[in-house]
Amino acid sequence: MKDIIIIGAGVVGSLLARKLSSYNLDVLVLDKENDVGNVTSMANSAIVHSGYDPIPGSLKAKLNVEGNRLFPNLCKELDVSFSQIGSLTVAIFDEQLPMLEELANRSKENGVEVKLLSKEEVLKMEPNLTSEVKGALLAPSAGIVNPFTLVVHAMENAVDNGVKLCLGEEVTSIKDNGDFFSVITKKNTYEAKVVIDAAGVYSDKIHSMIEKIDYEVKPRKGEYYVLDHYGKMLVNHTIFPLPSEKGKGILVSPTTSGNFIVGPSSEWVDDKEDLSTDKPTLVNVKAQAQMMVPNIPFNEVIRTFSGLRPTPSTHDFILGTAKSNNRFILASGIESPGLASSPAIANYLVDNFVSKVIKLTPKKDFNPYVRKRFVPSKMTSKERNELIKAHPEYGKIICNCEKVSLGEILDEFSRSVPPHTIKAVKKRTRAGFGKCQGGFCQPLVLALIASNYKMKKTDVLLDKDGSYIAHYLTKEAK
Ligand SMILES: Cc1cc2nc3c(=O)[nH]c(=O)nc-3n(C[C@H](O)[C@H](O)[C@H](O)COP(=O)(O)OP(=O)(O)OC[C@H]3O[C@@H](n4cnc5c(N)ncnc54)[C@H](O)[C@@H]3O)c2cc1C
Repeated sequence: MKDIIIIGAGVVGSLLARKLSSYNLDVLVLDKENDVGNVTSMANSAIVHSGYDPIPGSLKAKLNVEGNRLFPNLCKELDVSFSQIGSLTVAIFDEQLPMLEELANRSKENGVEVKLLSKEEVLKMEPNLTSEVKGALLAPSAGIVNPFTLVVHAMENAVDNGVKLCLGEEVTSIKDNGDFFSVITKKNTYEAKVVIDAAGVYSDKIHSMIEKIDYEVKPRKGEYYVLDHYGKMLVNHTIFPLPSEKGKGILVSPTTSGNFIVGPSSEWVDDKEDLSTDKPTLVNVKAQAQMMVPNIPFNEVIRTFSGLRPTPSTHDFILGTAKSNNRFILASGIESPGLASSPAIANYLVDNFVSKVIKLTPKKDFNPYVRKRFVPSKMTSKERNELIKAHPEYGKIICNCEKVSLGEILDEFSRSVPPHTIKAVKKRTRAGFGKCQGGFCQPLVLALIASNYKMKKTDVLLDKDGSYIAHYLTKEAK
């Protein structure tokens, strides 16, 4: 019998697991995917919003502002790239200027420091903005984060502190036995005193396994372009249009890897697995973005992708307990700003709900830090030479576009949440993220996975179950 089962290893489930690993508890995390952070938490804008626009008094407003405050230290402990570059919400038309003032007032209510800027001030900061810009709202506390390593390192830290993680475990039903739950997956049955539902777009489905619910979580798709990082500096801040009922709108932003991201769209879809992109939507994303930044070099687009927002019909995060049992805890409908709010969501749930149903005794030997990684591309040449002298595998480049070395990939296999697929290696090291999108490094990464796990090359997956790349060894080709 476990103390707690968390269903879902996205950013919310992983940071919850990490927080709970600081207490003397037996915690198990179940996820249907073959890697952590493989759904919404890896396909978003990666902005740690300042919290200027959620409705004052909402959970979104409170936890976004608190989450933003927690991010710098969290990323230090978890060795995650994070940069507080600030955001600019721009007015392009005169009639939008009063809306900027309204947003400034809302920011004050939410406790977020902002500054209204004149046209001249904005253009001085961001010369690539349209000359039509009329003014902007600067939110200096907004940041950008690497969302892939955030989830991996949070879970790695949780596992290092005693949490058990079982991947490839899709929960199909849950039985409420009064003082404990049976959680049934396609492979096993697990028992726990407390269950936490952190299942993203499926969080309503998981909740409805134990009682009738009066809300739904619908997938709202966002499509993006990713630009290469070899071009000139395009923008220094995250550039937003004014928010609307559809969300924060289409942004243009640097990423922590030096690329630029343009998007997302906002479209309701029926299928919770629909991650397709389509030309009309992307053409519209392009047109909207060009209204703010006209000279975006779309010839440098290296990829398009989409993510699904777990949008709740309640319009706010659903954090609390089931009506029928206060030991079934909900982290449901965590749409944007869910990434920015995630560390605060974890604290809020543990302090207000977990602590009411289970005794929390702090673990004396809890270690908040992950083992540091060596990343030669971020080192000075002196540091890099010393590293390569001591560990020659860091001098052998596997991914030329992103300059990822063999040493970095081998290190990942030795960690507590190791990668098993080509995409899992990509999310951790960036091998395959560059201009050639894995054209050169993919066969090498495939061979490294096969050799590390002593498996056939034809059994290595690109990503999800069934996504084999090599069907026959060359000499066996039919
Ligand atoms: C287009 C877009 C842009 C966004 N931009 C931002 C942004 O810039 N800033 C920001 O703060 N937020 C942003 N968000 C929101 C943010 O990405 C989400 O709030 C956050 O990732 C949600 O995390 P999660 O852990 O709740 O869900 P997920 O990451 O989806 O994790 C849920 C997990 O549950 C697992 N699961 C589901 N069903 C089952 C089952 N039956 N059995 C076992 N496991 C199961 C899934 O496999 C998954 O791993 C954006 C979202 C999108 C889509």
